Amino acid sequence: MTNKITIAVDGYSSCGKSTLSKALAKKLGYIFIDSGAMYRGVALYCIENKLINNNAPLEQQIIASLPDISLTFQKNDELPDQNDLFLNGINVEKKIRTPEIANQVSKIASIKEVRLKLVEEQRKMGERGGIVMDGRDIGSVVFPNAELKLFVTAQAEIRAKRRFKELQQKGIDASFEEVLQNLNERDLLDSSREESPLVQLKDAIVLDTSNLTPEEQLEVAFNLVLNILQAKRT
Ligand code: C5P
Repeated sequence: MTNKITIAVDGYSSCGKSTLSKALAKKLGYIFIDSGAMYRGVALYCIENKLINNNAPLEQQIIASLPDISLTFQKNDELPDQNDLFLNGINVEKKIRTPEIANQVSKIASIKEVRLKLVEEQRKMGERGGIVMDGRDIGSVVFPNAELKLFVTAQAEIRAKRRFKELQQKGIDASFEEVLQNLNERDLLDSSREESPLVQLKDAIVLDTSNLTPEEQLEVAFNLVLNILQAKRT
């Protein structure tokens, strides 16, 4: 028997899900998995292997290539708190964060077979509990029995500002308008797709991060976990 619980963190693009999930996992001594990185990894594979033609994913070829795509996470040597994504043995953490990937990823993520593969891998990573995973379908599909489900949101302009600043810090070129447009497009695609769309579940706790610092967000989430752990013990 383990006391460790499973924590699903879903929500719109750039609302601080990964930052919060990473900090929460660190504080609890849990595993942290950024499931979006895995979808970005598949998108990168598709771009590098010319499986996207004129902005349209070549669906059948992508499905046929899935057995050739291996995604793993490994600790970053310089930033021990960070797990980098490896695609077929190569560290692609930087490559998957570009606007080019952001523009393609939601189309790739709407392919049913892509989702089936990644969901299976994500479930394996969490089979022992003690995990914080963030994404769009974690509470609805990957871990429907998660003890804590958070739905993180923030106003679109605030999210775009945060993402714009992040890209600027990384030296990646993009205008604020482009960033805002990309977020809106991804949110629409992610919420309206047929396969496991982003939904606000009835059993999820909504956390609006618009006016909360990362520290305040962590405090709210950590207290929710403590309450659940305490209830488990009694
Ligand atoms: O979380 P992040 O913004 O990096 O995710 C990139 C994209 O991957 C999302 O816009 C979404 O299309 C897709 N995604 C998904 N399901 C997840 C995580 C991400 O469809 N669980």
